[in-house]
Amino acid sequence: MTMSFDHVTLGQRVVFGAGRGAENLAAEVARRGARRVMAIASSRERELAARVCGQVEVAVWFDDVVQHVPVATADAARAAAAEHGVDLLVSVGGGSTTGLAKAVALTTGIPVVAVPTTYAGSEATNVWGLTEDRTKTTGVDDRVLPAAVVYDAALTTSLPVGLSVASGLNALAHCVDSLWAPRADPINQALALEGVRALAVALPGIVAEPEGLTGREQALYGGYLAAVAFASAGSGLHHKICHVLGGTFDLPHAETHATVLPHVLAYNAPAVPALAGRLAAALGAPVGEGEDPVPAAVGALNRLYEALGAPSRLADYGLTAGDIPEAVDRIVKAAPPSNPVPVTEAAITALLTAALTGAAPTATLAH
Ligand code: NAD
Repeated sequence: MTMSFDHVTLGQRVVFGAGRGAENLAAEVARRGARRVMAIASSRERELAARVCGQVEVAVWFDDVVQHVPVATADAARAAAAEHGVDLLVSVGGGSTTGLAKAVALTTGIPVVAVPTTYAGSEATNVWGLTEDRTKTTGVDDRVLPAAVVYDAALTTSLPVGLSVASGLNALAHCVDSLWAPRADPINQALALEGVRALAVALPGIVAEPEGLTGREQALYGGYLAAVAFASAGSGLHHKICHVLGGTFDLPHAETHATVLPHVLAYNAPAVPALAGRLAAALGAPVGEGEDPVPAAVGALNRLYEALGAPSRLADYGLTAGDIPEAVDRIVKAAPPSNPVPVTEAAITALLTAALTGAAPTATLAH
C-alpha cells in the first residue's frame, strides 16, 4: 500500500535530566536572554517550583492555578504579566499550570519554558484550553507551544502513586487515541506506540517503587511522546468524550481519561484490527499466530489496569446516571466523523453507562 499523508513536526527544545532541572532551567532562561521571568506554579507546587527556579531570578510569582483554566484566571495572569513587564513565562506543575502559561502566551506572545511535574503532556502540544460557563473551549495556536521543556524525573516523585497512575494513563490515552484520530499518520502512530511501550513499563515500575527515578523518567518520556503524537494526530473520540466530561461536569482530567480509555479501545478496536495488534505488542502482549488481535489488545490493557489498581468508575469522580443524556448529546455533536466506528447516541450511552459503573470493557460493546 502506498503512503499519503501531510505531517507537521512542532519545533521545541526538549531537555531531559533527572536531578538537573534547576541547572537546565537556568541555562534555558540564560539562552533566551530573559530578564523578567514570571514563574507560574500553584501554591501546592510552590516548594517544588522554588527548588527548580533556584538559579533563576524571578520577577513575579503567580500561583492562582485552577484546573481547566477558567477565563477569569487567565485574565488575572495576563494582567500580572503586563504589570511586571514579563518577557518569559516559566511554568512548574501539571497540565493545569502549563495550561495557564499557554493562556498568557496566547494573547501576549510571551514565550513559555515548561517544567512538567505530571505526565499530562500539555508542554509538548500547541493546544490551549479555556473554560467559561461550563464549556471548555480548545484551540490550536503555535504561540502556546512552549519554546522549551525541562524534564526532571525527580520533580515527579512527590506525585502520589494513585495520581501518577491516572496521569500516566492519561498519557497512554493520548497514545491510543492518536492511532485513529483525524490526522493519524504513520509517524504519529510510531511515536504513539513507542509511548505505549514506555508507559506500560513505567507505570508498574512507579507502583512498585514510587521514589525510583527509572519508572518516573520512562513515564515522562512516554508522556512526551504521547503528547507529540496527540498534537500531530488531533483529538480522537476518546479525547472528545473526556473533554465534555471535564468541561461540562468538572470531572478530574487524568482520572477521567484513565477511566474512559478501555471503553473507547473496546469500542474502536474491532474496526482497526491491525492497529490493535500493534497496540497489544506495545503493551507487552504480542499477538500469537492465529490469535485475534482485538481481544488481545483489549485484554492487555485490562490486565495493565488491574495490575495498577487503575481508576475504573466515573461515578467515583462525580458523574451520575442523570448526567449521561446531556453528555451523550454534547459528545455525539463533537465526535470526529472519521472515527473508525460510527458514533451514535445509543453507543455513547452504552459506553458511558459502562464507564460510570465500572463494567468490564469488552470488544463487543455496542457492536
Ligand atoms: P493538574 O495539573 O491539575 O494536577 C493534578 C494535581 O496534582 C494537582 O492537585 C497538583 O497540585 C498536583 N501535582 C502536580 N504535580 C505534582 C507533584 N509533582 N507532586 C505532587 N502533586 C502534584 O493535572 P494534570 O492531569 O497534570 O493536567 C490536567 C489539565 O491539563 C487539564 O486542564 C487538561 O485539559 C490539561 N491538558 C492539556 C493538554 C494540552 O495539550 N493542551 C494536554 C494534557 C492535559
